[in-house]
Amino acid sequence: MGIERVEVYSVTLRFFEPFRIAPGASEKSRNVVVKIVTDYGVEGWGEASPSRRVTGETVETVLEALSKIAPKLIGMCPLRIEQNVETMDRVIGGNPAAKAAVDTALHDILGKTTGKPLFMLLGGYRTQVLTDFTLSIKTPREMAADAVKAVEKGFRALKVKVGVNPSEDVERIRLVREAVGEDVEIRVDANGGWSPEQAVEVLNRVEKFKIRFVEQPVPAHDVKGMAKVRRESPIPVMADESVHSPSDALRLIREEAVDLINIKLAKSGGILKARKISDVAEAAGVSCMIGCMSESEIGIAAGAHFAAGVRNVSYADLDCDLLHADKLVKKGGTRVENSMRLFSRESGLGVVELDTGLLGKPLAVYK
Ligand SMILES: [Mg+2]
Repeated sequence: MGIERVEVYSVTLRFFEPFRIAPGASEKSRNVVVKIVTDYGVEGWGEASPSRRVTGETVETVLEALSKIAPKLIGMCPLRIEQNVETMDRVIGGNPAAKAAVDTALHDILGKTTGKPLFMLLGGYRTQVLTDFTLSIKTPREMAADAVKAVEKGFRALKVKVGVNPSEDVERIRLVREAVGEDVEIRVDANGGWSPEQAVEVLNRVEKFKIRFVEQPVPAHDVKGMAKVRRESPIPVMADESVHSPSDALRLIREEAVDLINIKLAKSGGILKARKISDVAEAAGVSCMIGCMSESEIGIAAGAHFAAGVRNVSYADLDCDLLHADKLVKKGGTRVENSMRLFSRESGLGVVELDTGLLGKPLAVYK
C-alpha cells in the first residue's frame, strides 16, 4: 500500500476581530491544507499555518516546499512515518510548517488505517485536554472584560498576551486577575517583547496575582536573557519562539534557561518531531505545552491528539480555531466544553467533513 496522490489547498480564515500580540496584529490567517490519498482508499488531512516571524515561512514558501516534497512521497508507505519525515528532510531543510502538514496527514492515515483515534496511538495518556483561551492585546480594561466573557463561556485557564509596555502589562495582569477571581489559571505570554530587566521587574510585580508561567519573556535568540529571567523571577519560564527542535530544547535546558517548553507542530515540523522535543524535555524534568499558530480545526485536532497522547505534554493552548469566524471543518474534529478539548470516536484526527467552499479547488495535485 502506498501514497497515490497529494493535493494542496490554500485557505483564508478571517478572525472575529483583529488578533494582536506584542510583535503585531492580524485580521485573517492564510493556511495551506494537504490531503494525502492512498491506493487503499484511506486519505489523511494536514495543515500548515505558516508564521514568517517565528519560522520564516509564508503560504508561498509552504507551497514551494510542498512542490519539492510531495513528488518524493508518491509510492511511499504512509505508515512508515519516520522514513517519510527523513525523506522530507533530505529533500529540503527547514520549512517546519510545510512538513507538519504532511506529517499530520500521515498520522491521520495511521489512525484511519488502524481504526483508532490518533491520541490512542500516541500513548493514550488522557482522553481530554484542558485548553486555555488567549486574550489578544488591548487596553487593560478591555482585556479584563474579555477575560470575564471567556470565563463565562467556561474557560478555566486564560493566556494573557503582554510584552508591549511593562507598566501597562502589569495593569493587564492585575485587572484580569481581579476580574476573574482566584480560581482561574492565568498564564502570561510576552512573545519576546521585554528586555531581561523589564521581564524581571514585571514578573516580580505580578507574582502576587498567581501566574502559572510566563512564555517567552525575552526575544527568541536571547538564551542568556531567558536564563537571567528564570534566575531572578519567581514565575516559571516557558520557551516558545526559542525552541523549534530537540536540539534547541537540549541547549536551553543546558543553559538553565527554561522550566517549561511550548511545542508547536508548525515549529517542530509535525507530531513525530514534537514527540522528540517532549522526550528530551521529559528527560530533564521539563514539562511541555502544545500551542498553536493560527490553524483551523484540522491543525488544532492534531495538537489536541498529541497533547492527549503524551504524558509530558501537561499544558495546552489550543484555541485559535475558536477565534476564527470562518470554520473549515463542518463535521468532526475536536470540540471544547468547559475548557476541555474533547474527542469523537472517529479514527485518526476525527475530521469528517470540510467546507468545500472555503477549501476551494486544489492549487496543486501531485501523483
Ligand atoms: Mg507563545
